[in-house]
Amino acid sequence: MKKYIAIILFVLLGQIAVAQTPYVLLVSFDGFRWDYANRGLTPNLDAIKKEGVSALSFKPSFPSITFPNHLSIITGMYPQNHGIISNYFKNCQNEIYSLSDTAAVRNPKWYQGEAFWETAKRNNIKTASYYWPGSELTDTNRRPDYFKAYNHTEPHQKKIDGVINWLTLPQSERPHFITLYFHDTDSQGHKFGTDSREIDSTIAVMDSLIGVLRKRIELIGMKDSVNLIILSDHGMTNVSEKRDIDLKSLLDGFDCEVNSAMSLTMIKPRFDKDLPRIYDRLKKSESHYKVYFREEMPEYYHFSQNPYIFPIILIPELGWSFYSYRAGDHKSNAEHGFDNNQIDMHGIFFAVGNKFKNGYKTGTLSNVDVYPLLCEIFGIFPRKNIDGDIERIKFILK
Ligand SMILES: [Zn+2]
Repeated sequence: MKKYIAIILFVLLGQIAVAQTPYVLLVSFDGFRWDYANRGLTPNLDAIKKEGVSALSFKPSFPSITFPNHLSIITGMYPQNHGIISNYFKNCQNEIYSLSDTAAVRNPKWYQGEAFWETAKRNNIKTASYYWPGSELTDTNRRPDYFKAYNHTEPHQKKIDGVINWLTLPQSERPHFITLYFHDTDSQGHKFGTDSREIDSTIAVMDSLIGVLRKRIELIGMKDSVNLIILSDHGMTNVSEKRDIDLKSLLDGFDCEVNSAMSLTMIKPRFDKDLPRIYDRLKKSESHYKVYFREEMPEYYHFSQNPYIFPIILIPELGWSFYSYRAGDHKSNAEHGFDNNQIDMHGIFFAVGNKFKNGYKTGTLSNVDVYPLLCEIFGIFPRKNIDGDIERIKFILK
């Protein structure tokens, strides 16, 4: 008899634990610059500002590029530590990681940090992802319980339907942490620039999706239980062929490998003896960019401690770029990947739900602090080796 009572109690307590586990929906708008929310185009973000938490800006980690920062958000680590140092790079065996190579992005060996969904899994919390860099790993222990294979042209409505379907699964199958990703502000920003009509209409469309999402969550009766976090990975700044740093001439006569995101550029000479010579030439011509040896990168970038970072690093002045070097394959009106302390590289952070303070405005938040914030919300222990710090962000919670 005692045994049965114990079993019934165990099941009941388990159900109470599930009922008390919070829900968090984490939405990322790629390349949504901090000030896009101040253009009078975003009534739904304005509503969250009133009801929940809003930050002046959201500082990306360096480099201010999509994959490194989505991984920083989900692991709480700087790119040099979680290993995804750019959207495209090589390891010491010359194997390539590239965001467009499905086999590479699914290969667990590149990912040195623990994503929140791994931490959640160890704590018996179900998770799901309607896209997020690093969510499709072949190792089932290292990816969300539910995930979608990335499709760049997936209709917005289908993504929202997918999230609502997950939230209406039977309790035992329902994920409590869900990510959702939209590329549109990044794509349109690159193409048309940050002051274009096209980016303004994309900002308005993204904002309307927040409205739809909140309405749909209300209709399934979960308005009071779902905590919604809306953020972006980085900002954007206009570039022009008139503000071109002629990298081809600068490297003329040298045999070296160049990894250029048009903004951040890394150089590896084929012959070690060329290293000081290339550096000297770049240093002598240093105009509208900064050149560093990897080892002498200023500490605040946290970008020197990974062997995949090439030995010479160039960071252009905001708005200047290695335009002609990349022009052939990459015509662009705006870019990111610059110094992450520049406010143009900052994104947005908004949050609303029963865990967050009401009508609370704060200054700039750092993206490595989101992982410990998620752990705090779910009441679970974060990994110890992270760069994020709960003390820098916990004040936004009730
Ligand atoms: Zn981009």
